[in-house]
Amino acid sequence: MGLYTDHRKVTHTPDGYELLTHESGHLEYDFGWHQGPYWSKYLAEMRDNARFMGIKCPKCERVFNPPRAVCGKCFVEMNEWVELSDEGELQGFTIVRFPYIDPNTGELMKVPYTAIWVTLDGSDVRMMHFSNETDEKDIEVGMRVRAVWADEPRPTSIHACQYFETIK
Ligand SMILES: [Zn+2]
Repeated sequence: MGLYTDHRKVTHTPDGYELLTHESGHLEYDFGWHQGPYWSKYLAEMRDNARFMGIKCPKCERVFNPPRAVCGKCFVEMNEWVELSDEGELQGFTIVRFPYIDPNTGELMKVPYTAIWVTLDGSDVRMMHFSNETDEKDIEVGMRVRAVWADEPRPTSIHACQYFETIK
């Protein structure tokens, strides 16, 4: 089964061998994966209630956002959920200007866009997300930022929060 039309003008080597094509095939598939109990609750709270939920270590009392089952410092299971503010402090950022294929859509990413690290109030760890600022002059580590939620129905993903805006 040919996947493309061969437009080559030369079909043989100078000494008479046919120029061959190796077809590696066509691969396309849908896929999904289970989020597990922690991320299921986390994403459902973002989607349904437009809020971030962290989880608190019973030993060191650090609050993780996003949640995880076990504290990486104390190695104990965590089960105490705490609602976090949707405001926090910008800890770092990267303004991306080089387009590449978005694995979620298969389309080229629209650039520029800004990936950020943010620590929400009430949390002790940083989360990754996006800022709507794309000019270095308008963004600085230490700035206060606030979540901007998508309109309902929000997606079941981190994109339930569209991006973080700077609190002026
Ligand atoms: Zn701990």
